[in-house]
Amino acid sequence: MAPRTVSHISSPSQSIEKREIRFSNLEEQVSKELKWFYVRYPGGGSRYLYVDSHKYGFVWPNITMFCIIHAIFFYSFYLLYVEGLKYYAIKGVGYGMTAGLGVTTGAHRLWTHRSYEAKFPLRFLLIACHTMAGQNDMFTWVRDHRLHHKFSETDADPHNSLRGMFFAHVGWLLTKKHPDVHIKGRTIDMSDVIGDPLVQFQRKYYIPFYLIFRFYIPIRLAMWTTGVDFYTSIIGLFSTYVGSLHCTWFVNSFAHGFGDKPYNAKIQPRNNKFVSTITLGEGFHNFHHTFPWDYTIGEFVWSYNLGQIFIEWMAKLGFAYNLKRATGEQVQNRMLSARRVKDGTLYQNDHPYEIPHEY
Ligand SMILES: [Zn+2]
Ligand SMILES: [Zn+2]
Repeated sequence: MAPRTVSHISSPSQSIEKREIRFSNLEEQVSKELKWFYVRYPGGGSRYLYVDSHKYGFVWPNITMFCIIHAIFFYSFYLLYVEGLKYYAIKGVGYGMTAGLGVTTGAHRLWTHRSYEAKFPLRFLLIACHTMAGQNDMFTWVRDHRLHHKFSETDADPHNSLRGMFFAHVGWLLTKKHPDVHIKGRTIDMSDVIGDPLVQFQRKYYIPFYLIFRFYIPIRLAMWTTGVDFYTSIIGLFSTYVGSLHCTWFVNSFAHGFGDKPYNAKIQPRNNKFVSTITLGEGFHNFHHTFPWDYTIGEFVWSYNLGQIFIEWMAKLGFAYNLKRATGEQVQNRMLSARRVKDGTLYQNDHPYEIPHEY
C-alpha cells in the first residue's frame, strides 16, 4: 500500500507551502514547530489540523454553545431555588441516574471494555439509556475511550490530562483535536462495534433519537408529573443535563489528578471517592486503568459502585453473563509493585503499564 502523505502549511495566513512527507515520519514532523498541516487520508478525504499545543485551535461554535447552556444551567438553579421546584429536581436526578447507567454499565463497561456480555433485552435497554444521557453516539464514545486507554497521557489521548485539568475536563471539546488523536485513532480496532447492529442503528438515527430521548421525553415527563409549564421544564432540564456532563468529565479531570494510586504508581489515573460517588462507581480510576477488563471498575463493591451492583443483578436475572474480574493474585501483585515503585526499590523505565492492554 502506498504510504500516507501529508502536505503542510507553515501558517494559515501565509501562502500555502505544500511539502509531501512520508506517513512514517509524521510524528517527527508534528513534534517540530509546525502550526498547521494538511492530512490527506489514503481512502479519500482531507482536513487541516492545528498542531501547536501551546496555542489551542478554538472551536468557536462549541464554545458559544457551551457558554449558552451553562448560562441556562445557572439560571435553572436560580429557578429551582426561587420557585422551589424540589420534585422537579428529584425527578430530573432520577432521569439522569438512569441515563448514567447507560453510560457506565453500557458504553463504558460493556461496549468499550467488553468486561461482560449481555443479552439483547439488556443491550437494548442500555443503549436507550445511553441515548438519554446525550453524550454523543455509542460508536464515537467507544472510539474516544479506547483511544484514551491505549494512549493515556499522550497527545493521542483525546483528553490528555498532562495538558491541564481544564483541558482534561472540558477544554478538549472546545479545541481542535491534536493530529495524533486522528492519526493513532486509526489504529483502534472498532470492528466489534461496527459489526453491532444496535450501535449502527443508534448512530444512523442519532440526531432524532438525541432530540427525543435527551429533550422531548424529559421535558414532557416533568410537565406531566410535576405540573410545571413548558418554559420552566426546558430551563430545568439543563440543570440535570449539564450537571450529568460534568459528572462524566470529572472522571477525565479529577480522577486523573487527585487521589491515591495503590495499583500502579507510574500512571496518572487515581482512585477518587468524590468522583466515584457522582458517577455510580467510575472513580476508582487507578484500578480501572490497571485492570480495564474488570467489570467492577474497583476492588470493593461497597465503594459507591452502583454500576457493579446493577450488572450483578442483571447476571442473577440471566441478562448478563461472562463477567470478568481481575484475580486476587493479580491485584496483590500489582499492589506490591506499586508499593515498590513508591519506595524506590522497583524502577519501571518501560511503558507504565506492566500488563499490556489495548483497552
Ligand atoms: Zn475505561
Ligand atoms: Zn482515564
